[in-house]
Amino acid sequence: MELIPFTFNPWWGCTRVSPGCDHCYAERIDLRAGGGHWGKGAPRRTFGEKYWARPLQWDRAAARLGQRARVLCASMADVFDAEAPEGALERLWALIRRTPHLDWLVLTKRPARIARSLPPDWGGGYANVWLGATVEDQTLAEQRVPVLLDVPARLRFLCCEPLLGPVDLSPWLPALDWIIAGGESGPSARPVHPEWVRGLRDQCLAAGVPFFFKQWGASRAGHVLDGRLWEQLPSPRHEANESPPAPPG
Ligand code: SF4
Repeated sequence: MELIPFTFNPWWGCTRVSPGCDHCYAERIDLRAGGGHWGKGAPRRTFGEKYWARPLQWDRAAARLGQRARVLCASMADVFDAEAPEGALERLWALIRRTPHLDWLVLTKRPARIARSLPPDWGGGYANVWLGATVEDQTLAEQRVPVLLDVPARLRFLCCEPLLGPVDLSPWLPALDWIIAGGESGPSARPVHPEWVRGLRDQCLAAGVPFFFKQWGASRAGHVLDGRLWEQLPSPRHEANESPPAPPG
């Protein structure tokens, strides 16, 4: 199953923030393209009108098909980066408002910066935003999950990738809508222990929370766990009374 058919990056560039960043694939991709957009004080790479128009095309296509489409935001940046290009985040929120047929997976390793970065009309959360935090180990779970849960959102999820240790999410699972897990891939990848993945799956099963296992990463091929695929998705929350916000103007 293709988890996320579209990816949108409002900019490229970031600063490492936690152990999951040690082998940041985005930084490697940026280096291959010339580099210079990583670290404190480094200018982020920005994109032009054509690139920013793509999600509008995806939205129209989804509307024509009568389907919703998921968009990962972002794979080459962190949306809540303190050094985001000026105005880019506001522009992103405006774009999200204009694409009501897309579900935007806004994923961050900086949940402490979410609340101050939300648009004035966020309310209880845009209906087409799934708000997520990356959690690599127990320490980060304890730091990041309560902060994420303090932010109003229509759907909250965790991405436990790269999973670097066992994680007990049970205190927070009743308030979470979806858990993604995966091992690290790429050069020098740290292997994921099957028991860490099983632990998360079993916690999700017990709590009735959808669980999606993406990949073993460097330790083995594929993403079969105990003889089957785990590709559960959260329930859609787009009933008639939960329509996305209207486009501005
Ligand atoms: S937060 Fe994400 S994009 Fe930024 S350095 Fe870490 S892994 Fe890379």
